[in-house]
Amino acid sequence: MVISAMGIHAKVMKVLALRQLALSIVAVISAGLWTSLQAATVEGMRLWAAPDHARLVFDLSGATSADVFSLDDPARLVIDLENSQLEADPDSLSLEDSAISALRTGTREGNGLRVVLELNREVEPRHFTLTPNDQYGHRLVVDLEYPGESAVENPIDPIEAMIREQEIQAQRAGAQVRAGSDQQATEPTSRSSEQAKPHPRRDIIIAVDAGHGGEDPGAIGPSGTREKDVVLDISQRLANIINATEGFKAVLIRDGDYYLGLRQRTQLAREQKADFFVSIHADAFTSPRPQGSSVYALSQRGATSETAQWLADSENRSDLIGGVDGSLSLRDKDQVLRGVLLDLTMTATLNDSLSIGGQVLDQLGRVNRLHKSRVEQAGFMVLKSPDIPSLLIETGFISNPEEERRLRDPVHQQGVAEAIFGGLKSHFERYPPPASLLAWQRDNQRRPGGDEYRIQSGDTLSAIAVRHGVPVNQLKQANDLNGDVIRVGQVLRIPSS
Ligand SMILES: [Zn+2]
Repeated sequence: MVISAMGIHAKVMKVLALRQLALSIVAVISAGLWTSLQAATVEGMRLWAAPDHARLVFDLSGATSADVFSLDDPARLVIDLENSQLEADPDSLSLEDSAISALRTGTREGNGLRVVLELNREVEPRHFTLTPNDQYGHRLVVDLEYPGESAVENPIDPIEAMIREQEIQAQRAGAQVRAGSDQQATEPTSRSSEQAKPHPRRDIIIAVDAGHGGEDPGAIGPSGTREKDVVLDISQRLANIINATEGFKAVLIRDGDYYLGLRQRTQLAREQKADFFVSIHADAFTSPRPQGSSVYALSQRGATSETAQWLADSENRSDLIGGVDGSLSLRDKDQVLRGVLLDLTMTATLNDSLSIGGQVLDQLGRVNRLHKSRVEQAGFMVLKSPDIPSLLIETGFISNPEEERRLRDPVHQQGVAEAIFGGLKSHFERYPPPASLLAWQRDNQRRPGGDEYRIQSGDTLSAIAVRHGVPVNQLKQANDLNGDVIRVGQVLRIPSS
């Protein structure tokens, strides 16, 4: 009974499956007919010139397939759109700063569209289509990548970066243990070799990321102000302030009107060995009322508030609007190891992020209202850099008419940039990376009237003597010291040797 029922069931399933197969074959055929009959129209064209690529975007009335190939002598790129016609005006495109010196269009085999790009440099073409979203309809994206110029051409693998970071930290920890345990001044040889190696006094590198760009305007204010423009202004101002400050160096992740994928932004920061990553944005909400600045750090366990979650979702949508090919995904090898290591590193960097965020919020509160008085946390894609402390700053609500006006105001922009830097600076002055100029300055506070040194935790008298090239006895004499006991915070006079 049971067996025969199952037999009937299996037969019914088989028939159903066959019917479904037949139906889907019909569907495939008719879909094929439909697309080949359906003529697409190119309704618009946009060109975005970035330092490492140019992006040409076609707005299409419907899905269409494209054939993209290169021709030599002279170098050209041909884009053939099947069954398509041109309604956009190609002459309105500005080709400035791009690899394209001229653009021609023509019809092909009666109903196809051919676009020919004359090239002024070597390019690696890549193309993909995007399906409609809130902002755009069907799009064909043709990227002309410049070989050798891509800032993210050889991104350092997150795992590699982490292992390197761990090595550096182990070295630091080892050095600290050595210095701390050497209470009675021994190891003169190793000390002199340490002395011989000059302190690197390197700059602290701040990666400044202006949100959105190119295809992705970001939020748009009631009088048409685009987030991508005001955040670029503020970011450029911030970078100028950073570069004008001794011991700091800025890396602008986006320095023009073009789009970079969210993951690409953090890769760039990592490649540039940034000590800190800050992404600059302006909020928008469905009502004009909300106002004020907010500072966000990453959360792996969900957002601290509903607004934070909502915002993270809308910022993370950027890649869809800006146009990132879905095939760009993290390599999935060693997923488990990756996960464990990421977790460890992220906890460490998150603490730094929250500390820096607190300082930045404190400073921002002096130039603008604060939307939230503490550092919020949510799962922003752009903050998912395991080894670099990162913050996302919503400088204000562009959807609030008063704040929209202020965000455009150069004086306010400068004030916001200065406030952000003020926060960063006070954090790094307190916790300078070991090899940085700031760390060196902290350890060698010299005053104009003569050399003085303030004792840090872990210092020994012998180490201080060696570091300043003074015999220990002279150092003791100059400071009326009888034993080897020194206090943290005590200021020693350094005699000239
Ligand atoms: Zn944004």
